[in-house]
Amino acid sequence: MKPHACEFLVVGAGSTGLALVDHLLRRDVGSVTLLDTLNSPQAGPTGTRVPLLAPSDPQWDLCVRRSRELYEGWSDWIEIDPELRRCGALLPEANGLLPLQGVDSARRWSSLQPDGPVCMHDPAAATVDSISVAAALLWRIRKAGGNFFPTTCLSSLVETSDGVDFTAGVREGTASHVFLCVGSESLNWLDRLGVRHQLAHENVSTFTLQLSDDLPPIIYWGEERALLFDRGDGLHDLQLIGSFEESTGALPSVDWNRYASFRDKWKDWIPQLDDTETLKASARIQISCMGTPSAIASAGGRIVFPGACGEFSPLLFPALAEMTVESHLAGTTGGLLEDLA
Ligand SMILES: Cc1cc2nc3c(=O)[nH]c(=O)nc-3n(C[C@H](O)[C@H](O)[C@H](O)COP(=O)(O)OP(=O)(O)OC[C@H]3O[C@@H](n4cnc5c(N)ncnc54)[C@H](O)[C@@H]3O)c2cc1C
Repeated sequence: MKPHACEFLVVGAGSTGLALVDHLLRRDVGSVTLLDTLNSPQAGPTGTRVPLLAPSDPQWDLCVRRSRELYEGWSDWIEIDPELRRCGALLPEANGLLPLQGVDSARRWSSLQPDGPVCMHDPAAATVDSISVAAALLWRIRKAGGNFFPTTCLSSLVETSDGVDFTAGVREGTASHVFLCVGSESLNWLDRLGVRHQLAHENVSTFTLQLSDDLPPIIYWGEERALLFDRGDGLHDLQLIGSFEESTGALPSVDWNRYASFRDKWKDWIPQLDDTETLKASARIQISCMGTPSAIASAGGRIVFPGACGEFSPLLFPALAEMTVESHLAGTTGGLLEDLA
């Protein structure tokens, strides 16, 4: 097989990789190749809606604004509606200017008890069908002439002064620039390449529950890193984010103890938590949220990781992708080699 040569290689066709390729193609800056281990890209849980939440830290404000603009513009330029629904989110114990007392929340959502916590209400929070978003982006990439190699796993990257030599599946090649969008695998790649970063893996336990509709569509406990939302298919998901114990071959695990104490803590406010049946439980790994939105690059600047934003990633990935491409093209993404001594 002839060695593959391209200007930009994007590894990983999850939401971040797809948005990145789309932006590169719109900028028309050279040939783009996308590859993924899987046959069809995955963009989260199949057939359910994911919540779009914004971090409260002001460093993210610009990124939040840009992501909302991109989402809102998508139905025009993507020609497929990503089914964005602005439903608002209730944020227990958050500090804000317009708090809702427990009794106000209970008046609005009859499944909440009036003696609950003071909450903020974020009217801009929304949900989106993640599969529609991924399908729409992939459709646009195909239409714009991007190259997509499915079932092709990246196994090596070597940065030289002329480019980046790579091996992916049975293919070998050289790219001028590589964007690493391989989800939770990205940190392992950065470590292997000796790139300094301060990100960590986190464990996300998800519990699927049957709750009534008289609940806020999204409740987000920021301090506790817990999230309860209506999946749009008659069920709710409760996500509990915690630390992940790194060790070779470590796998994510369902945190049943935390689930029990969370239900116990909040059952007086949401009585259904006490008696609902748990229909499904699963665990996955995600990368923690960066302090500020910025891409991370290798020492030579040719291998770029767009960064991560934990539970805010379903909202922020389009702006992160755009920002990564723009800062890379402007030559402002730098990198540091880990001091291996
Ligand atoms: C099973 C699952 C359930 C999820 N559930 C939720 C949820 O309920 N709510 C929520 O908000 N988010 C959820 N997510 C996370 C969310 O969908 C995205 O994963 C997140 O937005 C980050 O996107 P990403 O593109 O950075 O990474 P990912 O979506 O993880 O995409 C990374 C891609 O890189 C590919 N890849 C990895 N290694 C290689 C390699 N060596 N070579 C080639 N390709 C490679 C993978 O196959 C994958 O397609 C879930 C993700 C998964 C996988």
